[in-house]
Amino acid sequence: MRMDFLTLFPNLCETFLNESIIGRARKKGLIEFHCHQIRDYAEDKQKRVDDTPYGGGKGMLMIAQPIAACFEAICSKIKKKPFFIYMSPKGKIFNQEAAKALCSHTNIAILCGRYEGVDQRVIDTMIDEEISIGNYVVTGGELPGLIVADSITRLLPGVLSDEICFKDESHFDGYFEYPQYTKPAVWRGKSVPEVLLSGHHANILKWKNEMKKKVKGDVL
Ligand code: SAH
Repeated sequence: MRMDFLTLFPNLCETFLNESIIGRARKKGLIEFHCHQIRDYAEDKQKRVDDTPYGGGKGMLMIAQPIAACFEAICSKIKKKPFFIYMSPKGKIFNQEAAKALCSHTNIAILCGRYEGVDQRVIDTMIDEEISIGNYVVTGGELPGLIVADSITRLLPGVLSDEICFKDESHFDGYFEYPQYTKPAVWRGKSVPEVLLSGHHANILKWKNEMKKKVKGDVL
């Protein structure tokens, strides 16, 4: 998979994408990330990327032209149109099902908004899906976009040591993960559940299944 970020803060994205499990997946070539500075595509001499909204109102909006030029440059580079996502508090709430579904794309582009967001005509003419990370507002689409990128990347073959790593996890099949414990067996007077120390695999499995709780609510 190749994922392109369209952002005013490419370094912010790079910093995250080069670290830990995601960074290792990138180095191994299991996923390609490219972060593009939208400002580089501004036609305006001052490289302006924002302007005041028609009809008044507080704040600035991102101009359509540099976003479109940036996206079109990506399309010509890869010779196809990636699935284009706009991170937006008005979008469909992201969850594990949505992460799984996005894994089927070989090319994804993520538009990270800033200011009051982007000109609606970008959304209407170019965007395939608007995704929200929750019913609250943050200052930019970079963190939301990175959350989407992270959750997709860890599902790609070879990224985690074993598929069981995510198949056994919260939300994979509509359940929460069972509680987990590590050494020591007693900590501040609290013991690990007896069954986990028993070595009896069938009983341990039964306990784990009992402890999983059905996820309620946000399944798409
Ligand atoms: N004026 C907008 C909010 C703009 S916040 C409104 O009221 O809807 C600036 C940018 O941050 C947005 O363009 C979007 O890309 C990003 N953003 C903010 N909250 C988000 C959320 N919950 N999910 C995804 N992206 C979000």
